[in-house]
Amino acid sequence: MAEHAVVVAGGGPTGLMLAGELALAGVDVAIVERRASQKLPGSRAGGLHSRTIEVLDQRGIADRFLSEGQVVQVAAFGGTTLDISDFPTRHPYGLGLWQDHIERILAGWVDELEVPIYRGREVTGLAQDDTGVDVELSDGLALRADYLVGCDGGRSLVRKAAGIEFPGWEPTTSALLAEVEMAEEPELGIRRTPSGIHSLGKVEYEIRDGEVVYGEGGTVRVMVTEAHAGTTSEPTLSELSEGLIAVYGTDYGIHSPTWITRFTDMTRQAAAYRDRRVLLAGDAAHVHSPVGGQGLNIGVQDAVNLGWKLAQVVHRMAPESLLDTYHAERHPVAARVLRNTMAQVALMRPDDRIEALRDTVSELLSMDEPRKRFAAMMSGLDIHYDLGEGHPLLGRRMPDLDLVTPGGTVRVFTLLHAARPVLLNLGKPWGFDISRWADRVSAIEAEYAGEWELPALGQVAAPAAVLIRPDGYVAWVGDGTDAGLPDALTTWFGPVS
Ligand SMILES: Cc1cc2nc3c(=O)[nH]c(=O)nc-3n(C[C@H](O)[C@H](O)[C@H](O)COP(=O)(O)OP(=O)(O)OC[C@H]3O[C@@H](n4cnc5c(N)ncnc54)[C@H](O)[C@@H]3O)c2cc1C
Repeated sequence: MAEHAVVVAGGGPTGLMLAGELALAGVDVAIVERRASQKLPGSRAGGLHSRTIEVLDQRGIADRFLSEGQVVQVAAFGGTTLDISDFPTRHPYGLGLWQDHIERILAGWVDELEVPIYRGREVTGLAQDDTGVDVELSDGLALRADYLVGCDGGRSLVRKAAGIEFPGWEPTTSALLAEVEMAEEPELGIRRTPSGIHSLGKVEYEIRDGEVVYGEGGTVRVMVTEAHAGTTSEPTLSELSEGLIAVYGTDYGIHSPTWITRFTDMTRQAAAYRDRRVLLAGDAAHVHSPVGGQGLNIGVQDAVNLGWKLAQVVHRMAPESLLDTYHAERHPVAARVLRNTMAQVALMRPDDRIEALRDTVSELLSMDEPRKRFAAMMSGLDIHYDLGEGHPLLGRRMPDLDLVTPGGTVRVFTLLHAARPVLLNLGKPWGFDISRWADRVSAIEAEYAGEWELPALGQVAAPAAVLIRPDGYVAWVGDGTDAGLPDALTTWFGPVS
């Protein structure tokens, strides 16, 4: 029986990111992935939001994605685009890049980190005891792990086998999504009819002056809202053709589909993200309508929240209770995404009164304050983990400042590349003895003379010191003394003797 400290079920975006985080922390981790190769049959998610780009930047890999995608304002609510170009981030935009490419780039990173992937086989069962989890695979192989993380998508076998409830709401709307060739050049763009929203676009596109520009010919991405929700059979080309004719009066001579799928606004969330030695992340923990393009993003960010915590527990540096903070922090984030997608689906309904409401919301969102609030939510830049009362930075993302250190100018995110915590002293030298945590925390003396500005919140007072977790969130803010620092170090990075 092969043994690993952590087995990750599913090598989609969430599983790949988690495996990378664990490998960076020196954990023996392996992925089990059903697909024989990383290739996805269709395009699926369309890109990344600002906070996800930041998270990748914290590991020094954002450029790999930026160099292949199209920078564009993607944050939107209920169809209203929310420009974040004035936001205090190095990445005040989103990135148009199909999921296939996102996964390929992530898989390349995971490969460099030498994570083994058991490909072309599934996790079919699990049994956990006090010391670990037996993981059963479809080819008869058995694995033993200290921890198993289900990153195996919305139909998660791990979630079901662990007996974790998945409460939520049944679908109210359903759409066919496909990539096809067309004999005729279609009318591209969005169309609204009494049955809902439909769209025709191309898989290949460029962004010029903020606008999507398509070339001649090429694969067409079709989205047609169905008359009723609830069909569960595999969608066919003739159903798609009928759907197109009902909306456009023609099917434009569709042929050669490479991908036809059906998606709904089913909205569900795991009641618990952890059952002893089994954890859930990504779509395995939450599913919702794709409106707003948030699913992949919060899955990747679940992974970055969990990775360093699980690594410390595996290395026996921190107690198992640290894993409970994963649910405590990430469950509310996805719950809010579930709510905002439900609100957006309701706003998109084909009804004259709803259209009037949509126009009203759009007008509100054109005002500066609401735009900033909603844009910060949709781009993931406003995430605030509840770490108690205190300075506004506490529990929020650390900005990527240019710091002056004795060794030269350095960006905060560069300090996070190794996924280790950083204690940044920005005030006078204070003589705090970090030596007991020196094996796990990097202490840096730095100067920063600029302003401190947080998305949606605006300017905040400059802190004298900050303790930054490997996921880039601030765990402690100093006022010039070390009050509370030993407690924060112990809470997040384990007790020392
Ligand atoms: C039409 C559409 C558009 C979308 N647009 C966006 C968007 O613009 N932005 C965005 O952020 N999100 C978007 N999403 C959502 C996004 O695709 C998902 O949230 C994302 O793929 C979740 O990643 P994941 O790794 O958690 O799960 P998945 O991508 O589902 O990956 C799960 C992996 O586990 C494997 N697997 C499953 N079961 C097993 C098993 N038993 N054993 C081993 N392996 C297994 C699967 O093969 C798969 O590789 C969209 C989704 C759809 C359907």
